Amino acid sequence: MAISKKIAKSITGASWIRKMFEEGERLRKIYGSEKVYDFTLGNPELEPPAAFKEALKEIALKPVPGMHRYMNNAGYPETRQAVADVLAAQTGLSFDQNNIVMTCGAGGALNVVLKSILDPDDEVIILSPFFVEYKFYIDNHCGVAKVVNTTKDFTLDISAISSAITPRTKAIIVNSPNNPTGVVYDADSLKELGRLLEEVEGKVGNKIFVISDEPYAKIIYDGMALPSIFNCVKNSIVVTSHSKDLALPGERIGYIAFSPLMENAGLLMDALVFCNRTLGFVNAPALMQRLVAGLQHESVDMAGYQEKRDILYDNLTALGFKMVKPQGAFYLFPVSPLPDDVEFVMAAQKHNILLVPGSGFGAPGYFRIAYCIDKQVILNSLPAFKTLAGELGMTR
Ligand code: PLP
Repeated sequence: MAISKKIAKSITGASWIRKMFEEGERLRKIYGSEKVYDFTLGNPELEPPAAFKEALKEIALKPVPGMHRYMNNAGYPETRQAVADVLAAQTGLSFDQNNIVMTCGAGGALNVVLKSILDPDDEVIILSPFFVEYKFYIDNHCGVAKVVNTTKDFTLDISAISSAITPRTKAIIVNSPNNPTGVVYDADSLKELGRLLEEVEGKVGNKIFVISDEPYAKIIYDGMALPSIFNCVKNSIVVTSHSKDLALPGERIGYIAFSPLMENAGLLMDALVFCNRTLGFVNAPALMQRLVAGLQHESVDMAGYQEKRDILYDNLTALGFKMVKPQGAFYLFPVSPLPDDVEFVMAAQKHNILLVPGSGFGAPGYFRIAYCIDKQVILNSLPAFKTLAGELGMTR
């Protein structure tokens, strides 16, 4: 079979989530879905908010002529303006539609941005633990991923980032609220990053972009507010989507927003539009663009996610699992009780608990729990976690 050797290698090297998902399917056939505790996928089980369904009904009943045609590769002006208005209100900066490109999700947005800014062998700093696709996305556009560790509580390690910067550094990807850790970076650390980059740019002579990957921006707990990267870093670009906040991952709708403070903004916009086109996305889905324009202030029920976080965090820490308490997203990233995280995940599987080893996120010694699943399944899983902890001789 003549597939690319490089792709064949990538497929075998990064298939943890897929492997565990397939294992879940197998176990569900044997034990029934209520007895399999599948914490592997970041695929929200929630339905989109009622306002989405209303808007969908409305447009189906009163179609707009030409609504399924191609449009400007950047997206509909009114949708981009709706996004820009929210960002302007949040940041106090003068966003308008010329700062926004509608995309096929955050994944599409990341590829468009990386294609637009990278020359071959340019370096992109990613922070460990990281969303596994970053390495592939960077490689798609001939860049080189440079992995920098976060601190022991998964916050930004500014001096480690500083040491990793070279004259070839083109961008840093940050992701807050974070997948897989659930950590939210505070304004002070983001401002420190902004100061570091201005200082370093003066020395190395080229611009370093911060690409802030924010699909979980609205999933944030305990009354916290997410600091805007635009108020902390001058050359910042946000990539995001409505996959998680409106529970629309299959609809592939997201956007790129870049700072109005950016120099040569027109050139960047031209590059983003060109790359959205030539990567074959052409434009973000037309129907979804029309719908999300009016839904920028809507979201799924966040209180439900916070309750699930609390159930798992409280019960698992009581059993002796060690973890940073997540402040957002819908993931927990505890320390593996066995030194080998893959061995631990296999031990959990024997109790029908499906997890993803930290190795899959560049962080061996941990495991990830995705709790965007039914609360009852979470409650049903607790006795299985207790048996597992007992079997491993865990004590508080
Ligand atoms: N970035 C992070 C950190 C994610 O967790 C995900 C999806 O799980 C994405 C990007 C891609 O999301 P989408 O392309 O559905 O917007």
